[in-house]
Amino acid sequence: MIMILDGKLTAKNLRAQLAVEVTELKTKASICPKLVVILVGNDPASQVYVKNKVRQTQETGMVSNEIKLAEETSQEELLKHLHQLNQDSSVHGILVQLPLPAHINESAVIAAINPEKDVDGFHAINAGLLFNGESSGLVPCTPQGCIILAKQYLGNDLSGKHAVVIGRSNIVGKPVAMLLLQENCTVTIAHSKTINLVEVCQQADILIAAVGIAKFVKAEWVKEGATVIDVGINRIINHEGTASLVGDVDYDEVVGKCGAITPVPGGVGPMTIACLLKNTLIAAKHSVEN
Ligand code: NDP
Repeated sequence: MIMILDGKLTAKNLRAQLAVEVTELKTKASICPKLVVILVGNDPASQVYVKNKVRQTQETGMVSNEIKLAEETSQEELLKHLHQLNQDSSVHGILVQLPLPAHINESAVIAAINPEKDVDGFHAINAGLLFNGESSGLVPCTPQGCIILAKQYLGNDLSGKHAVVIGRSNIVGKPVAMLLLQENCTVTIAHSKTINLVEVCQQADILIAAVGIAKFVKAEWVKEGATVIDVGINRIINHEGTASLVGDVDYDEVVGKCGAITPVPGGVGPMTIACLLKNTLIAAKHSVEN
């Protein structure tokens, strides 16, 4: 029996649990977690993501503000905003929506965020802590979501499973590989220069696709009964001329072969925002402890 890993429902349950913790924090420590999201430019997909992030943060009982900056905003001006937010003790989480316009250096912007408020978990300090296995708790959101969904099928103990991650980006591939290693998986990271990718994937008990190519992973790549986590979000135009979202996995093919799979949409995507809220709460709790 194949298990469809329902990210929408899992995210809803996580948000409900977070809402209870937010109420407790307000009562016990008299603080309300606050997330500020900065959006530079007019990218339509980013606008939708930011709107959802702000709305869901508020629905969980936290405060969320959006700072909208024009496409032509200079890097210096963006850094000034970050400096102010770093200083503002009422702000617990700061997120700069990526991608940024081409004239702004993404690494410089990420480096300018106070690591304690870096709810995306992209700052080199948080990435380094994750690498060292001594995480601050501010772990990148999409990778956290992947692990939560994989455990729904496999249970909490992933020890000894062979996990293959296709993709080595700093925001998905590398951090999810580190989390799998912490879970005692044997981890293979594949990428565009990997030789015999199909054979590598065929060995996976857990296959995580974070590539950015629509329907890239085919049924013959997947071991019978494997857990398949599809991170990809690709917009395609159908034969009828309408647009739709598909993952990096050819769902219709793979669903007949695997043990469990995340759909797109409704799989990893909703988990990413829920884990962002989780990180905001963690950052707020840390601010009380410090
Ligand atoms: P990147 O473009 O940064 O990384 C893609 C990775 O895929 C690279 O490491 C690249 O290898 C590898 N790759 C590309 N082509 C091949 C190939 N032919 N064979 C094997 N590996 C290949 O993408 P991201 O990690 O940012 O995102 C990946 C996907 O996940 C995208 O579809 C994105 O939209 C989606 N995404 C979804 C999120 C969610 O919330 N669900 C959040 C973030 C991303 P190399 O390094 O060698 O170039």
